[in-house]
Amino acid sequence: MIPIRQVALDGQPMMQGICGRCHRALKVPESVIRGFGPICWAKIQADQEQERQESLPRTIVDPKKAAVALLELREYVMLHLKRDRCFCGMLYEGCDLETYDYGDSKAGYVLDGFKYRQWAYLRCPKCKNDEALWKILKTDEERGIHAVKESGSPQEMAAPE
Ligand SMILES: [Zn+2]
Ligand SMILES: [Zn+2]
Repeated sequence: MIPIRQVALDGQPMMQGICGRCHRALKVPESVIRGFGPICWAKIQADQEQERQESLPRTIVDPKKAAVALLELREYVMLHLKRDRCFCGMLYEGCDLETYDYGDSKAGYVLDGFKYRQWAYLRCPKCKNDEALWKILKTDEERGIHAVKESGSPQEMAAPE
């Protein structure tokens, strides 16, 4: 489910009455408020259900530290974006920061509270696009966070089982 709150964050589809997924004009007030036509809405909900079932593992060893680390990463990302919105018009502010366990020992973010390095991306709740952080962050800045995090927290990096 996409909460109305998230759809409304980027008021454009509501104002223009254009479906946030297929960009066709919306005529029914209910669809305009939702930001999607009925067919697209059904597809989005089906996609989300499938994603929940396929969601990738992330191994958290300290939930409090992990929550703080994710908030910090999100804050950092929002400050260092190359552009501020998804190609569909959704502001990245309204997108979810997602991570999963990443086995590669030379890439991914070292985050407190997580057992393994994390691959991180923003998921657009409107068009379902996933954007890897390295694509939307200024590259040097992203390297910066890697260096800081690596020197700050000497963690053992093993591949996920
Ligand atoms: Zn549509
Ligand atoms: Zn989007």
